[in-house]
Amino acid sequence: MDIEEKKQNVKEALRRLRKAYPVTGPFVAWSNPLELVVGTALSAQCTDERVNMVTKELFKKYQTARDYADADQGVLEKEIYSTGFYRNKAKNLRGMGKVLVERFGGKVPDTLEGLLALPGVSNKTAYIVLAKAFGRQEGVAVDTHVFRLVPRLGWSDAKTAEKMSAELSRLFPKKDYLDMNEYLITHGRAICSPRNPKCGDCVLSDICPGSEKFKAKNEK
Ligand code: SF4
Repeated sequence: MDIEEKKQNVKEALRRLRKAYPVTGPFVAWSNPLELVVGTALSAQCTDERVNMVTKELFKKYQTARDYADADQGVLEKEIYSTGFYRNKAKNLRGMGKVLVERFGGKVPDTLEGLLALPGVSNKTAYIVLAKAFGRQEGVAVDTHVFRLVPRLGWSDAKTAEKMSAELSRLFPKKDYLDMNEYLITHGRAICSPRNPKCGDCVLSDICPGSEKFKAKNEK
């Protein structure tokens, strides 16, 4: 597909996914920007369901950036243990609290630069937080689902999340950046699984280069 064909393909795919999934998610639960940053950081290599079980209690105890800055490493590790990579995540949450207190008056910044200054915050997390908490769609968040679905769909073969994000951002309008992330995650969980994608049940099968239907159609 050339760039114009990809743009049309992406547009049609998003139209169909919106129709197929009236509700996307579940995603990490949050009620303020701090909770969103923490929940998204904890979701690395972990399911959103598990994160939500952990944060249900965590958010009762840690309500401000100062709470994370002053947290005891060992105690915090135990509290987030089941999300995996708990040592590093606990270290990052404490570091994040510290940077928020020292540089941002305890508030989560609403800029990409500010968010990337927080330990453990990747481009993916920053784009999600900017879009959801501040209504600013500045980049396409590429998580593991997006990273494996996009090559199947023929939109990008980039080998890094950053490069893929940059390529995707040229294929559709900014207003759709967050939707694209959420619909691909939902579709990846429901139909386009890593090992056995259910192409026969997929609403994208005739426009997805990864499906037999598409290959057959284009061989004729
Ligand atoms: S057609 Fe198959 S490979 Fe393509 S998005 Fe659907 S399930 Fe995934």
